[in-house]
Amino acid sequence: SAFVLGSFVAAGTFRVDRLPRPGESLLASAVVWEAGGKGFNVAAGLSRLGVEVDGLIPVGTDHLAALAEPALVRMGLPASMIRVHPGPTGIGVGFVGADGENCLAVHPGANLLLSRETVRAATARIASAAMVLAQFEIGDGPIAEAFAIARAAGVPTLLNPSPFRMTRPETLAEILASTTILVVNETEAEALFESLCPGQAGTGTLRAAAEGLARALHARGVEALAITFGAAGARIVLGGSTILDQPAYPVAAIDTMGAGDAFTAGLAAGLVAGRPWDASCRMAAACGALMVTRAGILDGLPDPGEVTAFLRA
Ligand code: ADP
Repeated sequence: SAFVLGSFVAAGTFRVDRLPRPGESLLASAVVWEAGGKGFNVAAGLSRLGVEVDGLIPVGTDHLAALAEPALVRMGLPASMIRVHPGPTGIGVGFVGADGENCLAVHPGANLLLSRETVRAATARIASAAMVLAQFEIGDGPIAEAFAIARAAGVPTLLNPSPFRMTRPETLAEILASTTILVVNETEAEALFESLCPGQAGTGTLRAAAEGLARALHARGVEALAITFGAAGARIVLGGSTILDQPAYPVAAIDTMGAGDAFTAGLAAGLVAGRPWDASCRMAAACGALMVTRAGILDGLPDPGEVTAFLRA
């Protein structure tokens, strides 16, 4: 199974003609409330793709916590993933404009209360997983703990450091030392480049800088770097030097929210199934493309039949 560490967020997405300006109130034309959070989305994406999923889903003690169980069940995920922490459940509010552009704010709540101890208690489940996945909607400690357990057991790990934060250099080093695959979008790649290769940013395109960043990451223990460029596709660097360019599939995007999570789920599902990198990247890009053609996140996650049909078309 794939073991997904956090995160859970009650997410409200408002459709607006254009994104509101500072100080402005707009009427939304539609609203969708659904269970979200990058961890939950990726877990749901993996489950939709037929991968057995385990993990830790943190919720609080407020009324929003009740959203988690039915959402997990609906996505075919075990309710045993839920961990309750005192305080608010994570919550996010986003806007999607008519052009598909989005912006959002997330309050992580219970996600930041997930502890190293809770992770340690799941050691056997982590050590027997096919892959361990994490993002940055939870604290550094539990990620470092889970990835160290995975590394010691020979289990590959995938980190999507989103939303990016400047981690203490020692903590970042600890996490990267047991990260197998790093998936970042342009914003996250730029921040990472600035923190790992200071002074070198701004001297060319990010796509051209990918190899240098991958080399710096490889020296710290990361085997594969994937940078996603939205509609401009993704560049994957394996072993710090082998470049794999995965174009985006041309589609009419109506809602770009969740593209990165769908991409990550597709990539992980491919690799966990033992597919080679190029096939896994095609699957990732197909999942990202299908996601942006549909409103909402959970309804946008494709199943294997849809991915196969899309790649054949
Ligand atoms: P994030 O949502 O994390 O910012 P990206 O926007 O870079 O991630 O998208 C991740 C992947 O999803 C891209 O590499 C691409 O394969 C796919 N994707 C995203 N936007 C589009 C789009 N407009 N058309 C086709 N594919 C897309």
